[in-house]
Amino acid sequence: MSDCIFCKIAAGEIPAKTVYEDEEIVAFPDIQPQRPVHILVVPRRHIVSLAEAGPDDQGVLGRMLGVAGRIAAEQGSPDGFRVIINTGPIGGQEVMHLHMHIVGGPEPVGPMLKRN
Ligand code: AMP
Ligand code: ZN
Repeated sequence: MSDCIFCKIAAGEIPAKTVYEDEEIVAFPDIQPQRPVHILVVPRRHIVSLAEAGPDDQGVLGRMLGVAGRIAAEQGSPDGFRVIINTGPIGGQEVMHLHMHIVGGPEPVGPMLKRN
């Protein structure tokens, strides 16, 4: 998709500090990290969100989950981490290209949801 920031990063049109890539996915640091380790994993192919994903996307989704542990360990979160996929307006998704957050670091990431 021509006007999509994560498509552009995946295509190398916008530089990013890639920490992992293969033929289907790319991983790079979040520009506004919320934890000491905060990596985004995106499919190269434009999938809007998990709500739009279907049977054809199972392979790439499995690949994203399957490399999470390796990426987390390599990036400084060897003792565990959290993955988050914000989806749609209810899920607080801001960038409409499916992406998985990997958050972690040396300390526990804390409660899953903060209520205010
Ligand atoms: P969300 O859609 O709410 O799951 O979050 C989108 C995430 O993308 C936010 O954490 C942003 O900081 C991050 N983000 C937006 N633009 C970029 C970029 N150019 N490079 C890296 N991360 C980005
Ligand atoms: Zn895209």
